[in-house]
Amino acid sequence: MGGLLLRGALGIVGPAALPYTASMARLNVHLIPALSDNYIPLVADPESAAVAVVDPAESGPVIETCARLGLVPTMILNTHHHPDHVGGNLALKDRYGLTIVGPAAEAPRIPGLDRAVGEGDTVSFGSLAAQVLDVRGHTAGHIAYWLPEAATVFVGDTLFAAGCGRLFEGTPAEMWRSLSKLMALPPDTRVYCAHEYTQANIRFALSVDGANAALRDRAAAVAATRAQGLPTVPTTIGMELATNPFLRARDADFAAALGLAGRPPVDVFAAARAAKDSFRG
Ligand code: ZN
Ligand code: FE
Repeated sequence: MGGLLLRGALGIVGPAALPYTASMARLNVHLIPALSDNYIPLVADPESAAVAVVDPAESGPVIETCARLGLVPTMILNTHHHPDHVGGNLALKDRYGLTIVGPAAEAPRIPGLDRAVGEGDTVSFGSLAAQVLDVRGHTAGHIAYWLPEAATVFVGDTLFAAGCGRLFEGTPAEMWRSLSKLMALPPDTRVYCAHEYTQANIRFALSVDGANAALRDRAAAVAATRAQGLPTVPTTIGMELATNPFLRARDADFAAALGLAGRPPVDVFAAARAAKDSFRG
């Protein structure tokens, strides 16, 4: 009886207590800082020689890190065409002869692209597979790479820790649809975004959702993490659902706090995004 209760209790604890299980594949992810605030995930499948570089902002730090770790990248995974995501493509291709995978809808703007992919495509990565999600909104063809077996998603500039990307090429409705796809992933999914924007995002989040206790707790934790110079990435889908103001657009209390009680989530999202664009915190 006690054992059953214990197992039941373990089943509902948070992401920190849900480590990899035997059936969950491992994935080694090294975050390489680049430019002023970019992160370049260097992703190694421990079961094979597959090594992917996600959105190389520049080549130098990738080459240094690979040399230090003894890794040879076999693939670049690009999420969108912005220079701080593709800037290292050609130099890395020259050096390693790797394969460049990127969004079909932005193919002409992805330097060195070998394979154009879109929603529903699968990219083999060693013993694992990445599913391509169309998450347009920040750019017109932005994609994400979801590795369900490793409970990991690479989201580029679509979803940030406590924030989301600006709408440069898409509408609020497109971005809301994209974020909704990410919100439907398992809550323990690790989310790798491309920038360390978390503290600024949290300043805005507190301005619109200050009554959210989970957000206030996160603000303190993030401040401590950054004070030590450590990254706040990865986050998890569960953490973002609880604290990211843009993902809280479905919440009645959140809508009411923005003066939008009863309005559809997409309208609440659009208002929150517009408020962030003009926020000077
Ligand atoms: Zn971008
Ligand atoms: Fe970016």
